[in-house]
Amino acid sequence: TETELSSSKMTVDTNDVDAADDLDIEPTPSARQIVSVGTESDSYAFTFHEEELNSILAKVPAGWKVCVISVVGAFRTGKSFLLSWFLRYLEENCVRKSDENSANAADDTNQDGKKWYERVQTLNQHEGSFDWRGGKERNTTGMWMWSEPYFLPRENGEEVAILLVDTQGMFDHETTVGLTAAIFGLSTLLSSYQIYNVDKRIQEDNLQQLALFSEYGRMAFEAEEKAAAMGVVESNEEVEGSNVNKEGGAEKADPKKAPFQKIQFLIRDWQNFDTEDETDIDGMEAEMQSYLDHVLAERAASDLKETREQITSCFEELSCFMMTHPGFAVIKNKYTGDTSQIDSLFMNLLDRYCQKVFDSKSLQPKTVRGRELSAVELCTYIKSYAQMFEEIGSHFPKAETMLDATSRANNANAVTLSITSYTDKMNTVAGPQSHDYHKPEDLALFHKEARKQALLAFDDMANFGSRKAIEEARDTVLQKLEKDYDVFVSLNSGRNPLLGFETYILPMAVAGISFIL
Ligand code: GDP
Ligand code: MG
Repeated sequence: TETELSSSKMTVDTNDVDAADDLDIEPTPSARQIVSVGTESDSYAFTFHEEELNSILAKVPAGWKVCVISVVGAFRTGKSFLLSWFLRYLEENCVRKSDENSANAADDTNQDGKKWYERVQTLNQHEGSFDWRGGKERNTTGMWMWSEPYFLPRENGEEVAILLVDTQGMFDHETTVGLTAAIFGLSTLLSSYQIYNVDKRIQEDNLQQLALFSEYGRMAFEAEEKAAAMGVVESNEEVEGSNVNKEGGAEKADPKKAPFQKIQFLIRDWQNFDTEDETDIDGMEAEMQSYLDHVLAERAASDLKETREQITSCFEELSCFMMTHPGFAVIKNKYTGDTSQIDSLFMNLLDRYCQKVFDSKSLQPKTVRGRELSAVELCTYIKSYAQMFEEIGSHFPKAETMLDATSRANNANAVTLSITSYTDKMNTVAGPQSHDYHKPEDLALFHKEARKQALLAFDDMANFGSRKAIEEARDTVLQKLEKDYDVFVSLNSGRNPLLGFETYILPMAVAGISFIL
């Protein structure tokens, strides 16, 4: 009851984030841990914090596409520092906040003649930032996502939600190769834009790590291709629509399409720019490209040719950006974020970098097999991949395991899509808001058509992976549609204008009571 509710509310500790959620008090924005690694008994155990991820993704309006930008790399290479700057950039440039419904046009960047970063006097170490540390202590291992999505315009006029992901505890002496690869792998799987932060130059082992993990991406992808080529989904079920599905065919993925989207080496503390003019960022960018070409060409000549090919075939885009050293004040233990102490070239490069990363022309939502994902769909994928890592620990996933995780998520998304398609259509004619009564045979026809379309949508999407799993998912859809149809039927019969006549008036007439219409 109301009294019980309000009294229980009064006893809630308002410092508790979960309690704040219950009370609808907006907790302070912060990085939320979505994956943690290690428990008391098993230091390799992966734990996925689904509720944290859900609470972030719930802030993205339904159906909106999402970009996930994730940073991986060794401990203490400035990943969290960089991400904290991304937050400052997004705060200045995003078009709306997640807690606002109305568009909130970005402030004119030149209102006070200052650039976005010049308005930041202190880059907080903790509050409003991904924790970046002056000290040497090792953070716990895992993945963090910023609690607030930011919304940016895309070239096509849509807006897209940006999610930032930080990783911690890779490539150090306390973390095994397997665990590093697992974090690297999960980050690659969930991101649309992966930044691989490296110190001073691209080293052989950086390339090998990347190739090693991407091998699994490639294997899983090839397994998908094979499955698609064998026509896994060419179902012969008698359900209407399945023949139309054949016409469209189990869509074959473009073989040129790589399993992953963007990977970018971000080189920190680069010392070798030939360009001397600190404002000539274009000149420096040209050097970045030629450095990457050089690194890749070098490998092409050696026995590491395969490594290079592996990487280039796994990502749609491979690029490189370089930052110079931020200045010695920044690396001191007692540095607390005074931005005036940061080297000006570092800031110029950071400015260009943010503009590039968040450029409306290149912002690409997370896709799986070429399909742009909504927040809910992304959540299904992340969950499926995280569960896979929970099960296999720090072992490398086998190709089939990865394929299973991907297709499981894909099937789940296809079920949702299909059911939504059905209920949306039925709602327009017989939903709770509808006032019209339809003859049962007419409603049955609507139902048949809506079901046919829904199954077409399902077949179109659920077109790879185990045939058995696809059929089970399709059965789930069929059962749900029948149940929903029953609800529509009873809603509809409630609107029958003759209903009153049949149940009240007729018996009264029979009972001999005269009635004047
Ligand atoms: P993370 O472990 O990779 O997340 O590193 P942090 O972002 O926590 O930064 C670790 C330390 O490196 C902090 O003291 C930062 O001030 C400093 N730092 C940040 N950016 C850079 C950089 O580009 N170069 C160097 N040398 N240090 C940096
Ligand atoms: Mg960090």
